Amino acid sequence: ESMTKKKLIAGNWKMNGSVEANDALVRTVIGGLQGATCTVAVCVPAPYLAQLQMLRHGSALELGAQDVSRHEQGAYTGEVSATMLKDFGVRYAIVGHSERRQYHGEDDQLVADKAKAALAHGITPIVCVGETLAEREAGHTEEVVRRQLATVIHTNGHCITEIVVAYEPVWAIGTGKTATPEQAQQVHAVLRAQLKAATPQADRVCILYGGSMNAANAASLLAQPDIDGGLIGGASLKAPDFLQIIAAAR
Ligand code: PGA
Repeated sequence: ESMTKKKLIAGNWKMNGSVEANDALVRTVIGGLQGATCTVAVCVPAPYLAQLQMLRHGSALELGAQDVSRHEQGAYTGEVSATMLKDFGVRYAIVGHSERRQYHGEDDQLVADKAKAALAHGITPIVCVGETLAEREAGHTEEVVRRQLATVIHTNGHCITEIVVAYEPVWAIGTGKTATPEQAQQVHAVLRAQLKAATPQADRVCILYGGSMNAANAASLLAQPDIDGGLIGGASLKAPDFLQIIAAAR
């Protein structure tokens, strides 16, 4: 792992927020960013991108979306294109979050195509992979995450040096059950090795951990050699918690 790589702490607000609540949260987060040595982003619901573009103006806070269409434009009701996201200064787009795989039937190829659409427009896809509890208990964790990442690598070729990967064990998301630093590191090492087999620049790729990361457990997770940051759900909605995680990412 490169010693100089900046860590990335990305909040995933999911379907939470209001104009009023966002204003208070983002002002407090920005107010606490001085001295932060990592990159910080918030991935917000699409209707709030314009508000966030204004709120973050002149700050170091980066903006992300929670999904992106695989299509460029046209008759795709309800979809939001990478070009539209670009219009609002969006730098990151989560793709293949387990909630989208689970509730919206997104498969590995769709997720890989979404990553490709983001990359084509200069947006960094945060590609989520992770096993369910049943898959872990059956001993299939590595096979599942390798399959999920393989499709992204196959579809995106040399561009994969530009992606961010998020390892999010499904059983840890929103449950308060965090993977231990050792459990997480073990999977991160598998993903790193898979990237290394695909590109000599694999050390440049940020691999985030996500799943009940919080102010108390962030430091020990982020101390692992292949954990380059976090994708933070619940704890990103509380400014003090989010800022403590940011402070732990040095
Ligand atoms: P959590 O969510 O931090 O609330 O577990 C993480 C995520 O789903 O990205």
